[in-house]
Amino acid sequence: MRTKLVVGNWKLNGSLAANRALLEAVVAGLPGTGKARFGVCVPAPYLAQAQHLLAGSMLEWGAQDVSRFAGGAYTGEVSAAMVAEFGSRLALVGHSERRSIFGDADAVVAEKFALAAAAGLVPILCVGESLAEREAGVTESVVARQLDAVLETSGVASLGRAVVAYEPVWAIGTGRTASAQQAQDVHGFIRGRIAARDREVAAGLPILYGGSVKAGNAGELFAMPDVDGGLIGGASLIAAEFIEICRAA
Ligand code: PEP
Repeated sequence: MRTKLVVGNWKLNGSLAANRALLEAVVAGLPGTGKARFGVCVPAPYLAQAQHLLAGSMLEWGAQDVSRFAGGAYTGEVSAAMVAEFGSRLALVGHSERRSIFGDADAVVAEKFALAAAAGLVPILCVGESLAEREAGVTESVVARQLDAVLETSGVASLGRAVVAYEPVWAIGTGRTASAQQAQDVHGFIRGRIAARDREVAAGLPILYGGSVKAGNAGELFAMPDVDGGLIGGASLIAAEFIEICRAA
């Protein structure tokens, strides 16, 4: 059986003081049953603070992106190996904000995934369709294309130590959540596509749902058979809300 996983994505938010208050409250409120795992992806400058405050706690930490390059003359970039040096376990790659605002194409996301995995991080590969794509009925082909870019670069075995997050773009930060059945349908599709290459990897792969998850809808989403937890944006900045979502898992 797959262990549920809930990961917060702070995006471009935080300060040393606010982070400390948030992390201390979340750690104090997390359920300690060991039945689920929890993490936060923080802005890179706060990795050291996360390591300092979270080492030995139930809450794992990591970055929201890594460079497609291992090192060199790439001003402003943060490499996967640098992220790993701060005790990080997790790294998001291919978040829709990276894809749409910063132009991360499928091939770039695949390079980032490979470097995150090579650095010993657990890559969380974000996939998902825009509203126009959903309305055009091409959700599955969009998600398949995003998945296949990584499968072709890193191979299906690489998903044996990775996470996929299905995040419909129309549900991110909009307050509009996919219904539990809509999420299940796409999660089932993702697992099936991986299973066509390797059934064992597919069976063990955590597939998270992301897009306006709140305390009020987490339980219904997480109850679906192929929804293994959530990637949480806005609600991960509010300790009480994030703790409730973790409890739902
Ligand atoms: C996200 O940023 O990955 C996300 C799902 O955001 P929100 O929960 O705010 O929709």
